[in-house]
Amino acid sequence: MRIVVKVGTSTLSHPTGRMNIRRVEALCKVLSDVKNAGHEVILVSSGAIGMGVGKLSLKERPTDIPTKQAAAAVGQCELMYTYDRLFGEYNHTVAQLLVTGDDVEDDARRAHFHNTLYRLLELGALPVINENDTIATDEIVIGDNDTLSAIVARTVKADLLVLLSDIDGLYTADPKKGEGAELIPVVEAVTPEIEALAGGHGSSLGTGGMVTKLRAAGIAGAAGIDMVIANGENPALLYDILDGKPVGTRFIGERKARS
Ligand code: GLU
Repeated sequence: MRIVVKVGTSTLSHPTGRMNIRRVEALCKVLSDVKNAGHEVILVSSGAIGMGVGKLSLKERPTDIPTKQAAAAVGQCELMYTYDRLFGEYNHTVAQLLVTGDDVEDDARRAHFHNTLYRLLELGALPVINENDTIATDEIVIGDNDTLSAIVARTVKADLLVLLSDIDGLYTADPKKGEGAELIPVVEAVTPEIEALAGGHGSSLGTGGMVTKLRAAGIAGAAGIDMVIANGENPALLYDILDGKPVGTRFIGERKARS
């Protein structure tokens, strides 16, 4: 199987902004093992800005563009250094791809992105993709990695997109607020009723939230790709997901689009 795994800032870092070493190590171990089992893996990793905030000892996620972009420049290095080291321990070679909206919207540029990704997979590398936050401006920004990961999944015709987040999946109500919120195991279609369940808030370090996840489910689904939201606290859940066991919330891709 060809799988795209997106991991959010809240999964990769502690609330302090510093890296959650245990979690990142577990993630790299599981993804390496999944690759060893013969699957193709593409990782869409957030965390550049979050890690930069930690590394530069900033008090909170910056709101002004220059500081955000500076933090991303610092944090992206930290991120790739860590992935290179940890995946290297399991003999996997990582490749960094930083993209902007232009790279996926412009036909010619998207073709380059697509060709490079395919070649990297052929070469057995593990592509690690993020938005190029250091140069992205309003005009060319994709804005969030949930959307980016769905675009990537569509580009490489992935079999599955997995979003590892700080939540178990989609609930009938905000589980942080109310009692009686129930996890929805399967979503057949992203209807307005489903959209109404998305609260809209991400963590203080990341940019996502349920709204962008549902948007991602829409993009992946229209391309015939299933998407699973699962809790990144335990990256080993990926084994169960690949075994087809019920984990988190699975959004079913449009079957017609696949054939
Ligand atoms: N590209 C951003 C980063 O690496 C994250 C975007 C997102 O969290 O969706 O910090």
